[in-house]
Amino acid sequence: MSAFDPAFGGAGLGDAAQQRTLATILRLLGAADLSLARLFEGHVNAIMLVSRYGSEIQIANLSKSVKGGALAGVWGADGAIGLSRARHGDASVLRGGKIFASGAGFVRRPLVTVATDGGHIMYLLRLDGQEQVDVASWPALGMRASASKAIDLTGITVGVNEEVGSPGDFMRQPFFSAGAWRFCAAQLGAAERLATLFQEQLKAKGRASDPYQLERVAGCAVACTTARFWIEEAALRFGSESLDPSAVVAFANLTRCASERAALDVLELVQRGAGLSAFLRGQPIERISRDLATYLRQPVPDLAMSDAARAILSGHLSIGDIE
Ligand SMILES: Cc1cc2nc3c(=O)[nH]c(=O)nc-3n(C[C@H](O)[C@H](O)[C@H](O)COP(=O)(O)OP(=O)(O)OC[C@H]3O[C@@H](n4cnc5c(N)ncnc54)[C@H](O)[C@@H]3O)c2cc1C
Repeated sequence: MSAFDPAFGGAGLGDAAQQRTLATILRLLGAADLSLARLFEGHVNAIMLVSRYGSEIQIANLSKSVKGGALAGVWGADGAIGLSRARHGDASVLRGGKIFASGAGFVRRPLVTVATDGGHIMYLLRLDGQEQVDVASWPALGMRASASKAIDLTGITVGVNEEVGSPGDFMRQPFFSAGAWRFCAAQLGAAERLATLFQEQLKAKGRASDPYQLERVAGCAVACTTARFWIEEAALRFGSESLDPSAVVAFANLTRCASERAALDVLELVQRGAGLSAFLRGQPIERISRDLATYLRQPVPDLAMSDAARAILSGHLSIGDIE
């Protein structure tokens, strides 16, 4: 299924009405392989950004690339020295690179950001795979298959054809913050898979009737289902045009809090209930736990939580009010 609008040959997965379907897909992918889900999320995010802010020609070009097998992504994270541009007549030449760039080395159509005084500018690049990737730059515990490495983009020429939208569009709300529900959905898929593997292990070992283990199974079910309710509601709100954008962002931020807590609960319950086998390399529980613990680390969680609390206190979102 493609996230492009049907007018550009897609299934409209990026459309407001399809966000719950997208949530289900991300959960299923997260359950199968969290790195794959991460790559897919970045791909869909890039398509949604280009579809929202790009020109018809840019959307059509990206759609053609994707139909030809190219993967897209959004590379926003900067190292100590961020990606910059130097003017050369009507065009600019990029200097520096990106870090934590999922799919570095094989994503061919990344949307990269360059910080300017007027806000972040997005450039939709066309890479040939020859760019220098720092293979040692992702020594993380998990998510190795996401290839979230540092990549050097120095020397790439960008101009009006590559520039998507206007400066500041990248962080335009509610979309910038409220889209966080997508990584929550992928993470939830991994947490659900862990809970399933735990149940299977309990049954295989004849430990499924133990009251303490039953309590852990119930705890996993509560955590996963709580997160799913939040995420599905956040997905619906992301697509709503009638809601106050501040309330949509606040709800997504609360969803981050709820789903991170749920995933951490599942990790603890499964690791304590499965015991040492949850830490033995080669065991699915071990790999998924490592991937999930790593991917749970997303930007500024404290700010997401405190911004949501401030939105409640200032009356943008009322507790108990789902409108
Ligand atoms: C698997 C994976 C794939 C990724 N792929 C991509 C990608 O394709 N593209 C991309 O752009 N990025 C990607 N990222 C990076 C991601 O978007 C974040 O930049 C990264 O995860 C931030 O993690 P962090 O824990 O360092 O965040 P931080 O925001 O530094 O948070 C760490 C802690 O510090 C706190 N904190 C943050 N700011 C402050 C402050 N000013 N003062 C005090 N405390 C503070 C936070 O609340 C938190 O407790 C990826 C990350 C992962 C894990």
